[in-house]
Amino acid sequence: MILQEEREMVVEYGKKMIEKKITVGTFGNISCFNREKNMMAITPSGCDYFKTTPEDIVVLTPDGEKVEGNKKPSSEYDMHRIFYQKRKDVNAVIHTHSVYATTLACMHMPIEPIHYIVAYAGPDVPCIPYVQFGTWELAEAAYNAMGENHNACLLGNHGLLSVGPNLSYTLDVAEQIEFLAQVYYNTKLLGKGVNLTKKDLDVVLGNFVNYRQK
Ligand SMILES: [Zn+2]
Repeated sequence: MILQEEREMVVEYGKKMIEKKITVGTFGNISCFNREKNMMAITPSGCDYFKTTPEDIVVLTPDGEKVEGNKKPSSEYDMHRIFYQKRKDVNAVIHTHSVYATTLACMHMPIEPIHYIVAYAGPDVPCIPYVQFGTWELAEAAYNAMGENHNACLLGNHGLLSVGPNLSYTLDVAEQIEFLAQVYYNTKLLGKGVNLTKKDLDVVLGNFVNYRQK
């Protein structure tokens, strides 16, 4: 079976995503990329994360051509492959419908640097307007909003997208940005939170670059 190791990782991280309560039911999707072989392993469409086996994982090229797998790939595969095509630092993509991130996404409200944990995503967390799910247009809009220096963005009226150098870091991004979204939501309830200064944020971002490379 092609990409056996990556398929097993995708299955494992799918379960983690449910255990950490950052997505519900069959929503969300996960992939990882083997840059050497130039192939990605992605969850199938509408999968139950606890019933999915490595055989169910679909292997695609970054151009979206199927290499191996009996199932249909996640309908959001464009949102995964665009990052493997365009960013050399990205080898894993996770999309979730976590509650607070999705709440802010429904408000079209980007997350300001209210807590240093924002550095998991970048200097802030951008939010794009609604774009039809499962389209190349959505993938492009997310990529354009994130560029080279963001690892997460809110998808308007939809959910959260996170990327990273491996699945472990990318799941941390999804989990920490959900925490940040909840904190940001709470500061909005209380009034206006105090953002980090640019100077403090630059120091934190510098530390995170080192942390990511470990
Ligand atoms: Zn979705």
